[in-house]
Amino acid sequence: MKVNISLKNVHRSLWPGNCLLCAARAPAGEDLCPACERSLPRTESACPRCAAHGAGMEIEGVSRGACQTHPPAYTSARAAFRYATPVDKLIQDLKYHDRLELSRLLGGYLANHLQALVDPLPDVVVPVPLHSSRLRERGYNQSLEIARFVAQSLELPINWKDAQRIRPTIPQTELPREQRRKNVRGAFMTGGAFAGRRVAIVDDVMTSGHTANALAESLLRSGALEVRVWVVARA
Ligand SMILES: [Zn+2]
Ligand SMILES: [Zn+2]
Repeated sequence: MKVNISLKNVHRSLWPGNCLLCAARAPAGEDLCPACERSLPRTESACPRCAAHGAGMEIEGVSRGACQTHPPAYTSARAAFRYATPVDKLIQDLKYHDRLELSRLLGGYLANHLQALVDPLPDVVVPVPLHSSRLRERGYNQSLEIARFVAQSLELPINWKDAQRIRPTIPQTELPREQRRKNVRGAFMTGGAFAGRRVAIVDDVMTSGHTANALAESLLRSGALEVRVWVVARA
């Protein structure tokens, strides 16, 4: 596997740092101590279409095989982790507590997961855009920060300019399940740059899948040949 060397990585490999989760001493060049590394909720037996774990089972009253009865606009979805401890905390820290350095860690795990799957690679990577009002408030788009590392590791171009969130949406987690589809419907606008391209959408978390689906629908309307979804964690 190809390893990208950034100045920060060089620094960490020369001087052992502390675990980003528990602050114990981490091995040289590693972001997590061995115990935290082992505790990560890696994805096993996920649905290849929607990345739901335990596909075919009923969880919280919702069938995890739902993608078969209502096929999404995207062709496949891949998640490095289940959205569970401690990955949920890492993502929340990246999103809400300005811990931008975690995008390198989470993007690295996602890239490693994708490399292990040996799926055919897309032509371009597109982070799920934030609305300009949310971007101003937060100062950065965590999906773009994660996507940068994924694109760099897989040596793919990234395009964050031709996909926009054209209206503000309520965070999906704050809405009841039945309102989530409507909340993001028509929320995205994508440009002709995606015509004839195979696209991979990158996001931090996928919960209902409606956000990824709305963006995938827009990309397909823009002429994309195929859309896949890559997320750090699947709820
Ligand atoms: Zn630790
Ligand atoms: Zn599925």
